[in-house]
Amino acid sequence: MVRPKKFLGQHFLKDQNIALKIVDSLKLDGSKQVVVEIGPGTGVLTQYLIKNSDLAVSLIEIDRESVAYLKEHFPSLSNKIIEGDFLEMDLAAMFTNNYLVIGNFPYNISSQIFFRILEQRNQVPQVVCMLQKEVADRIAEKEGSKTYGILSVLLQAYYNIEYLFKVPPGVFHPPPKVMSAVIRLTRNDRATLDCDERLFQRVVKQAFQNRRKTLRNALKPLNLEASISEMPLLNNRAEQLSVEQFIHLTKLIEAAGERVC
Ligand code: SAH
Repeated sequence: MVRPKKFLGQHFLKDQNIALKIVDSLKLDGSKQVVVEIGPGTGVLTQYLIKNSDLAVSLIEIDRESVAYLKEHFPSLSNKIIEGDFLEMDLAAMFTNNYLVIGNFPYNISSQIFFRILEQRNQVPQVVCMLQKEVADRIAEKEGSKTYGILSVLLQAYYNIEYLFKVPPGVFHPPPKVMSAVIRLTRNDRATLDCDERLFQRVVKQAFQNRRKTLRNALKPLNLEASISEMPLLNNRAEQLSVEQFIHLTKLIEAAGERVC
C-alpha cells in the first residue's frame, strides 16, 4: 500500500460503494470520451473508470509512490499516467479535445484546481469531484448566502452545479477532520459572458475582497466613474448580486471605458 502523506492531502477512500457511486455520477452520452482523473492515489476510482469502454482514462498524480503503485496495478494505463502537479501543467497542450474531469481532490488545493478548470472551461464539459463539504457548499450556493463567494460566481457563470451527496470522514484512510461532499459541474450554454471576461473576474474578486462593504466601497480600487459608482445596484454587498448582475455590472464598467487592470 501507499503510506498516506498529509502534505499531499492524501486521504484514501476505502468504501467501494461510494467510489462506484462517484464514478457513476459522471453523466455519459454513449460516445467515446476522455476522462482525466486528478489525484488517483491508489486508484479506487480508476478501477471503475477503466471498466467503462466508452472512457479513455488519463491520470494526473503528483505522488511518485502512488504513480508506481498505479503503474503496477493498472498496466494498461501505464502510458496514460502523468506524474506531476496538476496546477503546473500545460493542460491546453496536453489535451487538445474535450475531456471530463473526475477526482477526489486534494482538499488543500481544491480552489486552485477550480481556477485551472475555469481556464479550460471550453474544453471541460463536466466535472465530478469530491471535496471538503464546506467548499462544496460554497460553490453551490446562490446569492444571498453568507458563503456565496468568488468561486461560486465564477464557476456558476459557466457551470450548472449539482450538490450530489455527503461523505463522512470514517470511510477514508486516514479520516479527514472535515465532512466531504460530491458535486457535479456541467458546462452551461453560455459560450461567452457577453462582457470582458477578465474584467468580470477582476470585478468579482474585488467585490468579495471586502464582502461586508457595499459594492460602492468595495470597488473603490477600480476607480469607477461616478455614473457607475452612484448606481443603486452598488448599494448592495457582493454576496447579494447574482451571476447575471455581476455580468451586467461588468458590461456597464466596460461600456464606460474603464481601464481596469
Ligand atoms: N483518489 C484517491 C486519492 C485522493 S487523495 C482516493 O480517493 O482514494 C488526493 C490525491 O491527490 C492524492 O493521491 C495526492 O497525492 C494527489 N495530489 C495532491 N496534490 C496534487 C497535485 N498538485 N497534482 C496532482 N495530484 C495531487
